Amino acid sequence: MPRAFITGVTGQDGQHLAEFLHGQGYDVFGMVKGQNNPRVAALTDEMPWLELVSGDLADLPSLVSVLEMVQPDEVYNLGAISFVALSFTQPELTANITGLGVLRMLEAIRMVGGTHDNPIRFYQASSSEMFGKVRETPQTEMTPFHPRSPYGCAKVFGHDITVNYRESYGLFACSGILFNHEGPRRGLEFVTRKVTNAAARIKLGLQHELVMGTLDTKRDWGFAGDYVKAMWMMLQQDSPEDFVIATGETQTVRELVERAFAAVGIDDWEPYVRKDPKFDRPAEVDLLIGDASKAKEQLGWEPEVAFPELVTMMVANDLALEAAKAGIDLDTLDLPG
Ligand code: NAP
Repeated sequence: MPRAFITGVTGQDGQHLAEFLHGQGYDVFGMVKGQNNPRVAALTDEMPWLELVSGDLADLPSLVSVLEMVQPDEVYNLGAISFVALSFTQPELTANITGLGVLRMLEAIRMVGGTHDNPIRFYQASSSEMFGKVRETPQTEMTPFHPRSPYGCAKVFGHDITVNYRESYGLFACSGILFNHEGPRRGLEFVTRKVTNAAARIKLGLQHELVMGTLDTKRDWGFAGDYVKAMWMMLQQDSPEDFVIATGETQTVRELVERAFAAVGIDDWEPYVRKDPKFDRPAEVDLLIGDASKAKEQLGWEPEVAFPELVTMMVANDLALEAAKAGIDLDTLDLPG
């Protein structure tokens, strides 16, 4: 059986990717950090086949020893400080994990085996946030970077060092430039999940308002389940290359809010939403919209879940979760459809 090693397995994409690779017949190993990581128990319950190993992207010896132990065919580096707002308040941590962590992973691969004789294939989770103040629209693999946050800057380093190790040492290293992707496993700190969770809690009478930054921001939002498949497809190619993964469509945060409230039967959402500039970024990114033509042509990849379906899926999940926690019977609610 092929062996896959995932950093960031406790995160949204890590969980989707572990499930996907397990379904493809891989032995899946996931790295967890910390001496008592609170996310491990849920992961072990949900994925008993997943083998967990201990390590940290801040610690090169730990990466070398897990690679020696696991001997993977494929390494997916998804671990990162991934929340843009946190990167503004903890920029050094972000640079260390999201940026230098990639260098450490690549060095560990070089030390343990990643040459043409013993090729470990490497995937780096790059981000549309690297485009930031965009130079062209839509953005492709050729669009220059202009990051607008410490997170974006760290991702540019991670991306460039991946390309550099591919060119300098012949590593099979690919970078996926993924636009925003969401789903029921998205952390509550991210805007999509914050909105779908609030809509559900407001419907259940557990929360009274949703406090937001600007509603005018536009994003290209896809479904995480579709996007992790693209990561795997990149590593099955004959030669390593970088790919943009996106839907090519864009929505505003306002449309997200409208749809989430509509999904719980609230059409007049405005009285529930309060604006607070503290949620605005010090420097906002422009209109991010990706052109995934290369991935469509070369990988045969296409997104399957559209934005309306994605929001409905996330709201349904939050309703079920919050109702179960509060002991509320969903059948007693007046819900659409
Ligand atoms: P996520 O849910 O925030 O997960 C981040 C993961 O990184 C968690 O498992 C976290 O572990 C782990 N991590 C944090 N610090 C670490 C460290 N020092 N050592 C090892 N692991 C560490 O992020 P995601 O949405 O799944 O995204 C996966 C990757 O894709 C990230 O690199 C992200 O930046 C990138 N990306 C995401 C999107 C998106 O829209 N989701 C778009 C483009 C790129 P613990 O939670 O256990 O601490």
